[in-house]
Amino acid sequence: MTSATDRLTIRARGLSKAYDEVVALDEFSLDIWEGSLLTLLGPSGCGKTTALRVIAGFEQATGTVEIRGRQVLGPDVFVPPERRRVGMVFQDYALFPHKTVAGNVAYGVPRTKGEARVGKVLELVGLAGLGDRMPNELSGGQQQRVALARALAPEPDVILLDEPFSNLDANLRDRVRRELRLILTETRTTAVLVTHDQEEALATSDLVAVMYKGRVVQVDSPADLYTKPSDPWIADFLGDADVLTTTGHRGYAETAVGRFKTDLKGPVVVVVRPEDVQLSIGETPNAVVARTEFFGHDQLVTVTLNGGRRIRSRIGPRPSFEPGDRVRVKAIHARVYPGRT
Ligand code: ATP
Repeated sequence: MTSATDRLTIRARGLSKAYDEVVALDEFSLDIWEGSLLTLLGPSGCGKTTALRVIAGFEQATGTVEIRGRQVLGPDVFVPPERRRVGMVFQDYALFPHKTVAGNVAYGVPRTKGEARVGKVLELVGLAGLGDRMPNELSGGQQQRVALARALAPEPDVILLDEPFSNLDANLRDRVRRELRLILTETRTTAVLVTHDQEEALATSDLVAVMYKGRVVQVDSPADLYTKPSDPWIADFLGDADVLTTTGHRGYAETAVGRFKTDLKGPVVVVVRPEDVQLSIGETPNAVVARTEFFGHDQLVTVTLNGGRRIRSRIGPRPSFEPGDRVRVKAIHARVYPGRT
């Protein structure tokens, strides 16, 4: 009989690590399900790379890590990286400069399977025919794919990717990101990606784990994370968000841009995303346009509410607003959180 946990590829519990006074991981725990792509997302220095390196076995930490049910880190247990069945793609790719593309990809593949496997993986990542090239004869995007091929070639249980797109320019990054997602889906590879780029995380992942100061603070699907962040900091970190303070009373939080259902009583914080804020001209105005930024596909209009607080509205390219226009502002959706008492 199989249980739900049989499908867990990685189970990390209570990982803690400090460098002198700097806490890199603080009771870090995470589950990674077979065949899924999970992204570790968080601000610089929150411990993403350290978490990945502890899982891979390049760093020691207290706590436990199991990979497909086998303990690889724990009290008195430390399985070295090369015996964890983990593939790693580093930010700078870390290709062997004096080996050919095929030589790089063959690294870690048993000799008996060698050539056939290398050929197959190079084809998979779109590099068939380039096996004899040296790494310095490849573009950045191609080098990234060699690094991915090298990680995939030994058929690891999971691959860990540390900021794999950060050396690519913006256009190439989007393409390579989509290709990577396709390759991982096709090969049903379980993967953990580290990034500090919110859009990249939301667009690429099955699940996103948000980290803050060495801990995972929320794990959810991209859509749930964006629409139901568990606190205002996560809302703000994941996209644009404006905050209004008010009180919860008789089932509602009343604000200048609408009233929102809540069971909370007393001080509350209302978080509004610009795309949920509508502007209209003609009705009783409650704000003045302060600034507009036009992006073509949409525009961001900052308004000053009666009372002085500013809030942003993201709307389509029409109609155009001018600073000084008097408008009616209404939020069609907001999330309410406990405020400071
Ligand atoms: P970034 O997005 O900037 O790469 P990160 O979230 O990956 O950051 P880590 O690299 O894991 O963060 O670092 C976590 C904390 O541990 C940081 O404060 C960092 O300065 C510190 N740290 C990491 N490695 C070392 C080390 N080898 N020696 C000392 N401090 C370290």
